[in-house]
Amino acid sequence: MANAQLAHVTKRFGDGGDTVVAVDDISLDIEDGEFLVLVGPSGCGKSTTLRLIAGLETVSEGEIRISDRVVNDVKPKDRDIAMVFQNYALYPQRTVRGNMSFGLKMTTDLSEREITDRVDQTAEMLSISDLLDRKPGALSGGQQQRVALGRAIVRDPALFLMDEPLSNLDAKLRTQMRTELQELHQELGTATVYVTHDQTEAMTMGDRIAVLDGGELQQIGTPLECYYEPANRFVAGFIGSPSMNQVGGRFTGDAIDVGAFEYPLTDEQREAVEEGITGDTVTLGIRPEDVTLTDDHDSRTIEIAVSVVEPMGSENLLHLEKDGIELSVSVSGNQLVTGGDTVRVQFPPDHVHAFDGESGKALF
Ligand code: ATP
Repeated sequence: MANAQLAHVTKRFGDGGDTVVAVDDISLDIEDGEFLVLVGPSGCGKSTTLRLIAGLETVSEGEIRISDRVVNDVKPKDRDIAMVFQNYALYPQRTVRGNMSFGLKMTTDLSEREITDRVDQTAEMLSISDLLDRKPGALSGGQQQRVALGRAIVRDPALFLMDEPLSNLDAKLRTQMRTELQELHQELGTATVYVTHDQTEAMTMGDRIAVLDGGELQQIGTPLECYYEPANRFVAGFIGSPSMNQVGGRFTGDAIDVGAFEYPLTDEQREAVEEGITGDTVTLGIRPEDVTLTDDHDSRTIEIAVSVVEPMGSENLLHLEKDGIELSVSVSGNQLVTGGDTVRVQFPPDHVHAFDGESGKALF
């Protein structure tokens, strides 16, 4: 069952010649209990989408439902949501207990006793019981973030909305809080919409991820679906690190010719290209981790020069170059390859992607 829904939601800022379409006809369901991550580069519209769900912005077109109720005209405080912001947005003059209980006092008719109990329980869950009498100024960034989470959790809303809540924390604390947030989510089971620009955060945290670019929804699916079956060139390049290699080429009927080499298509791949192609240009895609080094010499292998080797610990990232075409390839750290070497690589057909050169849509 869907906990919240966006149906053809568009948000325009400004009018006349200066209109910015921040969110462009987005439709998606947020299922009961799911952790949905909105991810995309700066300016893609993810924060605006979240603020529309929260009611901090009004929609220009379309409909937003929360728990089966259309909320387009409902005030933020009446939407049964709780939001966690990047900058925590705590009240500096109130204690941690004051910060956590304020929303409950304003929006519910719970008794003092019930509010105290809920705050105590939530503080325990977040290991901040000993901080309840402090003010935010006397807390570290990580502790403030816990308080901000606590303030959202005590309200027991239908939906959590989180806008880059971990981005002000240092790398180590961020990784730790990621795991804690996932554990909390499992414990509470409350549907959550989480905004980040960080594809690693999206991949590790999301039950599903919604990839946005230019205000448009590019793909929504599990992290593995977006990784293995990217809907288009943008998703293919954005999800996965290091990024997928993408090389522009031409469909010759039985191969993709990228100039420096030809990739011979399997029958199935050829049929998929014939069915979906709009012109004759194709972008060939393969992830650095999917290219293999080989000693074979046949039509499926390519001889290519190693320009740079970046040691990454257990892996080495090789930068390869042939006739103006560059490829990144990750290989195990114990493979002895150095800059200036020549290697042979092959593209296992099951791992090769192709995108229509004009629309960017996945062909296979
Ligand atoms: P970031 O990661 O940088 O926060 P984002 O993906 O969250 O980016 P949004 O903040 O949603 O992107 O912005 C989407 C687009 O809408 C951008 O082009 C932005 O400049 C524009 N925009 C956002 N808020 C406003 C506003 N209040 N007035 C005018 N334009 C706005």
